[in-house]
This record gives sequence, structure tokens and C-alpha cells, in this order.
Amino acid sequence: MACSCLSTQRFAALAKAMSEQPFGSNQVSELNSLKAVCKKPHDENLKTLIDNVFIYTADLNNTVISDGWVLIHGKQIVALGKQGEQPTDFDKKVDGGGKLMLPGLVNPHWHESFVAPNFESPDDCNLEPTAYSNGGNIAALGSMFGFISTVGDKLTLDEGLAIARWSMWTQLRSGTTALGDLGSANKADSMALAAIDLGMRLRVSRWGSDVMLEADKASPTIIADTQLQTEDWLSLIETWDNHSSGLIGAMPSVMGAFGSSDKQLEALASITQQYKVPYATHLAPLKNERREVERVFGLSPIARFDAMGLLTDKLLAVHTAYASESEYQRLIETGVNICHSPAHYGMLGESTVSETGQIGRFLKEGVWVSSSTDGDISFIGGMCEAMRGAHLGHNEAQNCNTACPPTLALKTATLFGSKALGWEDKIGSIEVGKQADFVLINNDDYRYKLSGHPLRTFIVTGSSKDVDSVMVAGDFVVKDGRSTRFNEDELYQDYQKAVASARKRIGGPG
Ligand SMILES: [Zn+2]
Repeated sequence: MACSCLSTQRFAALAKAMSEQPFGSNQVSELNSLKAVCKKPHDENLKTLIDNVFIYTADLNNTVISDGWVLIHGKQIVALGKQGEQPTDFDKKVDGGGKLMLPGLVNPHWHESFVAPNFESPDDCNLEPTAYSNGGNIAALGSMFGFISTVGDKLTLDEGLAIARWSMWTQLRSGTTALGDLGSANKADSMALAAIDLGMRLRVSRWGSDVMLEADKASPTIIADTQLQTEDWLSLIETWDNHSSGLIGAMPSVMGAFGSSDKQLEALASITQQYKVPYATHLAPLKNERREVERVFGLSPIARFDAMGLLTDKLLAVHTAYASESEYQRLIETGVNICHSPAHYGMLGESTVSETGQIGRFLKEGVWVSSSTDGDISFIGGMCEAMRGAHLGHNEAQNCNTACPPTLALKTATLFGSKALGWEDKIGSIEVGKQADFVLINNDDYRYKLSGHPLRTFIVTGSSKDVDSVMVAGDFVVKDGRSTRFNEDELYQDYQKAVASARKRIGGPG
């Protein structure tokens, strides 16, 4: 690590001790405060002018400045404008080389899952429909999701940290500056520490999933201790929400209406009302879910959440494409934050964008629908690819090129996600008063020569790898595609060591 603070040594020793024995909240908070000290920016008063950039601000007016500059004071944006109006009072000037500047990309729905072994074969000869295909196999998904929620408990803090650092690096490298964890095969503490190390933002979670529905059973099968999962939520809120690093918050989540008992949903409602934190779930994501949830609970997935008082403007609801008309209206009226993962559906054989067209309808009616990547056991794309899925998918499904134009696709990947994470006043657009979170995109090649709309060209022909630089809170954490804080090869080697030891222990779904 680049940081040479004295506390780094103490941190390493503490992290090692914690990885070898069960640890209490005192150790976590000590670790936590050490990290905060260690990663404190050293140049809070520095004024930096980033000049010569093509800015898409993603503000409410869709402001575009083709020959722009931005002035940053410490962590904050204090001015922006066009050529000829640059301020003269700055300490440092960075030439943006005419690159595209976008707000830091916000990925509000993600699962850290890189501990899982990948048994993919390089051809498609043994390909079978996934459990998500054909409306979804609810029993199989319930069993798999229940298992995923146990994995974090089986990792040591060190293993979790090494895995999370590599996994989250693939997102940061792709321009994601803020992640929303919707429940991961990892430890919340490891992930939060990894985010601080990398210099990115994270709302950390623990995935609540205490029951599964089996095809031949009239009542839910209990698969985990509700009380223990509730205590995990309380612990992560106490430890990580409004963290002193300025980077970390908490977001309790449940997998979905087919994975939680009434008792678990009641606990989620009670905790989130008490602590005023965002909370998340996959809500009405699959055609076959309604029938199974109604059969066992007597209510539809959305009606279950409504009955518990969980439909609020703090709820992040993912893949919500299968609401009835009255439920659709209710979601709008309650201000629920709708999110989707448009680049992911085709991979798994889901038709969340096109089958009902409901998510496109939300967008058309002005609802702030965010885009996200979802999670997988390997890198499956970042927010660039999610924007392409949103732009092309909704335009196609709605049979109209105004359904999701490039600037709207960008807002689904920035401003709208920041609202879903409860950070709208801090990040999500390039505006005076917000934190200096940006990405700079390479646009100096053949693809852009004849383009009148570089954002469209990036969204349609670009990739995560076109991201050149990433700034979070005034600090360049990626430059020329490389971390400014660590060696990527070492990070990957640490990851490989960690998964080699962890995979022996984690088992598989029963
Ligand atoms: Zn998900």
C-alpha cells in the first residue's frame, strides 16, 4: 500500500490477530478508526483545476460542456465552466487531454461473490437453462441464495479482505466510485475495509434470507436464524453507517419476498425506521415468483412488503418488472427506488426489460430508475455495459429511440443511483457543492472521429476498459488505468491465495 502512516503497521497486526480468532465490536472499531487515520487525505486544502475536458454533468438540466474545466477544493467541486473562463487561483493544474468527464459511476446493486469457483467451460456444449430462465425456478434460487448468505461467516477477516479488494477493484477500475452491496458471499467488515483501502464508496450490507419455498410444501422451510441475521444488521449499522472515512454507509437487505419470514421483514422495517438507513431487496423480479409467494404467504411479493410498511422512499427495489397495475401505481406513489441490471439479463436468460416493458414505463413516466451490474462469480461488466443495456434495451423494448437516450442512460448510472443510496446530496452529478467524484474516458481513437455525440459513442461502442482515470472525493485513485494505491498483480495474487484457502471450507448449497 502506498500509505506509510505509522498506524498501517498496527493495523496489519490487528487484522492478522482478528483473522485468527473471533473478534468483538471493540476490535472492529479500533481497526476502523485506524483505517480512518491511515487513509485521511493529505491535501485537504489543495485547489486543483482539471482543464480541457468534455463534461457530461448528469445534472437535472443534462448540462453538457464540450470544452470544460472543473475546480476542486479538497474533496469538493467549487466551480466549473467553459474555456476562457478558467480561474487563476489554483495550486495544481491537470490537463484532461480532451477526455470525456462523467460523474463517478454509481452501482447501487452488486454482490461480492468472487470466492465462488467458476466451472464455466469455454464452449456452450453443456449449456442448460439457468434457474433464472423461463420465469425462474423459485425453489432452486431459494436454496442457492440461502447458501450464499452463509458464506461470509465461514471466511476469516483477512480472506474476506483480500477477496473483496480484488473484486471491488474490478468495479473501481471500470469507473464505479460508489457501490451498493445487496448481500454478498463475504463479510461486511472485510468489504468496508477493502473499500477504504481502494478509496471508493460502499453501502455495506448483510443479506437476510431465513426461509426458502419448496414446491411441495405449503409453508416456508426455515434455513437460518432470523435473530442472528437481525443482529448482523444492527452491528453493521452501528459500525459502518456514516463512517468517519466519509466513504462507507450501511444498507440492510433481504434477498426477496421468497426468502424472508414475516418475522424477518418485521425486523427489517423496525430497524430501518429506527436508523433511517436505505434498505434493499429484489422485488417482483421473476414471473414465477408471484404464484409461489401467494401460495405460501397469501399475498403477492409487493403486497407482502406493503403490509409490513416497507414500501418507502428508502427502499431500493431491484428488477421490479412483474408488478400488477395497482402495485405499479403504489410503487410510484410511495417513492420506492427502482433499480435494474439491463446488461445482466441476457446472460442468464431473463427477460426483465422486454417481457413486461414495465421498467421502461417507469423511465418514460419520469421515475428515477437506476442501473446496476448485479453480481456474479467473475467480472461481468461495469456500469458502461449497464448503460449500454439500458440505452439499447429500453429503446428496443419500447419501440422508440426516446425511451432511454444516452443522457438518460447516464443518469440511471449516476444521479438516480446516488438517490437510491441516500447520497444524492453528495454525489451522482458534476455540480458545485458535490464531492469531486469523476471518471475520465479515453476518446481519442477511430470510434470517435465522426461522432457528434461522444457519450453515445462511449455507451454503444465503449467498455469498462476505456476508463482512464477515476477520482473519488478529490483523490485520483485510478490513473492511466492503474491504481494509485497498490500493485494490481499483488492484489490478484493475494486474492488467489485467499480463495485457495477459503474454498476448502465454504461447501455448497444443500
Ligand atoms: Zn442481485
